[in-house]
Amino acid sequence: RPNVRAMDIKDHIRHVPDFPKPGILFYDISTLLAHAGAWRETVRQLADTIAPTHPDILVGIESRGFLVAAPLALALGCGFVMVRKHGKLPGPTVPYTYDLEYGSDTIEIQTDAIRPGQRVVVLDDLLATGGTLNAAIDLCRKVGGEVVAAACIIELNFLGGRQRIDVPVHSIVSYD
Ligand code: AMP
Repeated sequence: RPNVRAMDIKDHIRHVPDFPKPGILFYDISTLLAHAGAWRETVRQLADTIAPTHPDILVGIESRGFLVAAPLALALGCGFVMVRKHGKLPGPTVPYTYDLEYGSDTIEIQTDAIRPGQRVVVLDDLLATGGTLNAAIDLCRKVGGEVVAAACIIELNFLGGRQRIDVPVHSIVSYD
């Protein structure tokens, strides 16, 4: 087994130029997930970062946010809640529509997913412009959650996403 403590997580993130469209550099976590030691180290670092915020609930944003939030919820003894794309969650939901470069997107949370006053940390794989994380934080608040932090594996500093987020933001690796 590799020495996971010394491992550089960046070495396990694949960069894919021009995906999903020309001019976009896609940060692919498939290679990180596929490497047992690197993924365990990633989850461990996120767990250490988030534990001091004492969350009750970890919220994952569909779909790669699920992969981050679910193992962390087990590690920290928190509940796991899904924010999903429109039309995927049964029962009463609260929607949030936000603008994309072209058009818009709608995400939802179940109305009863969070009990009033529960401490929530919102998770995704990557922070770019911050629009997605901002929308998910708003949804958590609409259903009564107290959002204490947001976290992701990768942060793209040059897009300034964290300026749009009004809670402390934690990331494990970043690119300038
Ligand atoms: P944003 O709302 O602009 O912060 O975009 C964040 C969301 O889009 C996350 O769910 C990411 O998975 C995805 N995303 C945006 N840009 C990239 C990128 N360059 N590589 C991989 N995923 C990205």
